[in-house]
Amino acid sequence: MRIKCPHCGSAARIRTSRRISDLTVEHSLQCQNLDCAHTWVALTSAVRTIAPSMTPNPKVYIPLSPRSPAANNAQDKQTALALDEPPHPRAMAIHDTG
Ligand SMILES: [Zn+2]
Repeated sequence: MRIKCPHCGSAARIRTSRRISDLTVEHSLQCQNLDCAHTWVALTSAVRTIAPSMTPNPKVYIPLSPRSPAANNAQDKQTALALDEPPHPRAMAIHDTG
């Protein structure tokens, strides 16, 4: 993951990371430009699912992106996967090709 310094636009390095929740990680970052030397804290959060997990955690819910192919044929594919019905779209695709 490439993160730029908000002040000078140079590349930044993640120094430490700490899990806040299943969906959010807090990072401390350091600008690599020695003339800037800014250090700051940022958050990374999972906000939308593009392709559902093949091994979904039942405690995790990340809404499907409206642009996800999986959103075209199900109101909530991830909830359906948690209930083991219907099969995962990728699993169906693998079986269809064999
Ligand atoms: Zn900087």
